[in-house]
Amino acid sequence: MGLMNCYLVREDDGFTLIDTCLPGSAAAILAIASAAGAQIRRILLTHAHMDHVGSVDELAAQIPGVTLAAFERTLPLLRRPADKTLLPGEPRDSFGGGLPGIATPVTRVLKEGDHFGSLFCIATPGHIPGHMSFLDERDGTLYAGDALITVGKLAVCGWTPWYFPLPSFVMWSKPLALASAKKLLDYPIERYASGHGPIREGGLAALRQAIASASA
Ligand SMILES: [Zn+2]
Repeated sequence: MGLMNCYLVREDDGFTLIDTCLPGSAAAILAIASAAGAQIRRILLTHAHMDHVGSVDELAAQIPGVTLAAFERTLPLLRRPADKTLLPGEPRDSFGGGLPGIATPVTRVLKEGDHFGSLFCIATPGHIPGHMSFLDERDGTLYAGDALITVGKLAVCGWTPWYFPLPSFVMWSKPLALASAKKLLDYPIERYASGHGPIREGGLAALRQAIASASA
């Protein structure tokens, strides 16, 4: 959807939609799913920013019985108004970005280490509290939301190129984003499907390079 991505992940019974782009995207997303020949059964959120949750309510209204899944730490940020209270142990930095909230209830609350269909849930805080990434264990695709950005090349969020500063601009904690990126080195990742930019191949070597650029 232009500069922002959402993804249809195929499962035996239909699609899991990861993120929903800005408000007004539902018709286009439904048309793409229908052209690909399956129904959206589940909506899964990486984090609470507007360009990821914007069309949740429109989609839920048009997909009876759809499961809506999100990380438990994201739930306060999905409220209206968002509850931005930081938890004990979290960095005390403030964070920005639109948090419009959603009206649709989350029907599956995820924890780190859960499986959601073929996807393994990995907490990747830093861009915002409650950020979660999802590894498709069938093919090694990491759905990274805004934890990693692939505009230009693979980058840790907070260290995106000068011509695409927005996800870095609204950052919560760059040190935590870097720690989350290092944590991802423990997983068999083949490619990166992020919230912004094209899908990038390159496996863990690409991630090591992104971490080295961020650490320089
Ligand atoms: Zn974001």
